[in-house]
Amino acid sequence: MLWLSLLTLLVPGQVPVRSLPFHAPDPPTPRHAGPSEADQEFAEEYLRHFYGYQPKSERQRRSVDSGGDADWRTGLCDKLQNMQRFFGLPPSGQLTQETVAVMKKPRCGLSDVERFEDTIRWRRRTLSYRISGSNLPISASKLHKVFRAAWKLWSSVAPMKFHKRRRREADIVISFHNGDHKDGSPFDGKGGILAHAFLPGSGVGGDVHFDAEEAWSFNSTGYNLFAVAAHEFGHALGLPHSSDPGAIMYPAYIFDPSYELRLSFRDVKDIQRLYGVSTNFASLFSKNPPPRTPDKCDPDLSFDAVTELQQEVLFFKDRFMWRKHPQFDETGITLINSLWPDSAPPSLDAAYQNVRENLIVFFKGHQYWLLRQQVLEEGFPRNISDLGFPSRVKSVDAALHFRNDSYTVFFTGRECWKYNEQQKMMEESPALIEQMWPGIPAPIDAAVFYDGFVHFFQGNIHYKYDSNSRHVISTSAANEVLECNKEDNETLRERR
Ligand SMILES: [Zn+2]
Ligand SMILES: [Zn+2]
Repeated sequence: MLWLSLLTLLVPGQVPVRSLPFHAPDPPTPRHAGPSEADQEFAEEYLRHFYGYQPKSERQRRSVDSGGDADWRTGLCDKLQNMQRFFGLPPSGQLTQETVAVMKKPRCGLSDVERFEDTIRWRRRTLSYRISGSNLPISASKLHKVFRAAWKLWSSVAPMKFHKRRRREADIVISFHNGDHKDGSPFDGKGGILAHAFLPGSGVGGDVHFDAEEAWSFNSTGYNLFAVAAHEFGHALGLPHSSDPGAIMYPAYIFDPSYELRLSFRDVKDIQRLYGVSTNFASLFSKNPPPRTPDKCDPDLSFDAVTELQQEVLFFKDRFMWRKHPQFDETGITLINSLWPDSAPPSLDAAYQNVRENLIVFFKGHQYWLLRQQVLEEGFPRNISDLGFPSRVKSVDAALHFRNDSYTVFFTGRECWKYNEQQKMMEESPALIEQMWPGIPAPIDAAVFYDGFVHFFQGNIHYKYDSNSRHVISTSAANEVLECNKEDNETLRERR
């Protein structure tokens, strides 16, 4: 791998204090996209705090600057790759702008790599909790209501009971603190770290601390206290962080007001492994089981939509997506709204990237969304009839963009439509898929052009198609495009 000096990335006027040992982004990333000195310092501290990176002494650093200790550089790079894998980013070991942006998102204060022993858990199944301290952001009665609901998430799946205490000592003490509160993990003011908790045990064991400076709320303004409490209570019961972005134990703050906050399948498995299964679990969840995050190793996996995005190919499923980067075999899963907060709908029908205009277009039902630089264009979503579809077309199954010829093919049921991106109009009346794309079944789920071929997806089948000779080159399981590697499989890794 290429090691570039930070000096080559500095814009004129900046003075290097010392170079930090992150991989510099490879060309063609614009020079100005290189990480700033402040971001590099921030990233090093982040990796120290959350990924077990141990900085060397100043003397060793100086030897790095003079070209010495390569192990130290490699060590930091490895930790950065661990972080990128955890969050479903391409594991480049490069401090990209996107990586820095993920690091700066609000999150829990606990490490992502500490693996707790299974034996760290409460021996009793009935635990007490109390709210302590004076700087409560909301009235105690409202807090109790929120916390009761958060405990209930856990007690409905595991055989546990949680009792509130007003005065006497309790197993779990919940409190709000400003800045340094003398437990070795100071809070950092608005944003950043929102809360932390202690593993089960005596004394501070099981205690939960919230950053008093956050704008706590009961809805989607500020930080939703219920969502953060549900996560921290998981730690108080002995759970570590999960890299499953659908799990409550995912370390980043995620609150989507359009989703009911629930424990995921992963959260339920993890807590039940510690404490067993609640007696009424089956009856409570038989009709509405805990949601499972889609798994790239599932041979029945299908996709909602697939699109190119810059060098990557994105595969969408429910509110998640996998990112396939040409330089890496691994594909990480992440939430759609981690890249497009608030502006991309879940469970898409179709998506494509208009490279020339630097736009990404999403389809769901009768609407479409136009985003530029991750921001929704004004006046969107709009009705797909604006693109020239007749009113009988209610939704779009797939969109296939050809950047060189600047047109897009839309698939709806058994038909396909050609849209001229330069004239912004539908070119002709629709054709039948079976005539235009012989060998491709209808309706299809998703279509994308990359590596010189068109890739169609229907159910769990992937059709690789040569658009010149107009025939199917090969078929395979859809999930094979994501390179399921059993050793990389998040599911297996976390269950080890
Ligand atoms: Zn946490
Ligand atoms: Zn604390």
